[in-house]
Amino acid sequence: MLSLITLPNPILRKVAEDVKFPVDSNFRKFIKEMFTAMKHYDGIGLAAPQVGKSIQLMVINTPNKPTAFINPVVLKKSWKKSEAEEGCLSVPNVYGMVKRSKKILVSFFNIDGVKHEEWLDGMIARVYQHEVDHLNGILFIDRTKKIIQGKELLAEYLTK
Ligand code: ZN
Repeated sequence: MLSLITLPNPILRKVAEDVKFPVDSNFRKFIKEMFTAMKHYDGIGLAAPQVGKSIQLMVINTPNKPTAFINPVVLKKSWKKSEAEEGCLSVPNVYGMVKRSKKILVSFFNIDGVKHEEWLDGMIARVYQHEVDHLNGILFIDRTKKIIQGKELLAEYLTK
């Protein structure tokens, strides 16, 4: 099982490197390991830096199936935002309210190097924004104005 990286590991604060195509069999295997880890740790999404690899790759448990997003970006964001509670496997037992755009236009590559562009909304848009943040060294605790659980824990992580 891939092990989880948690605060204050500096990998979480790095901008991850682009993935170059074509990918090799090790990379395909790594994606499968990320799917397994996401399930094992009970996450709805997982970004590669969270398992110690600073590359532009994230997986999300979409309503259809676990999906890998490679070199993902957010191209457009709706003005309309929604606020919801978020947590993160890399910031254990801390939860806070985060405002995110309701709808986003995204682009990403699949494992075969095919580029996709699509609009996402609802829960998946929120998770996508959370995971893309990871690839840019940003954590939900940077975006929350209201920690609702684990304030003291968070202070502890940050002074480690
Ligand atoms: Zn996270």
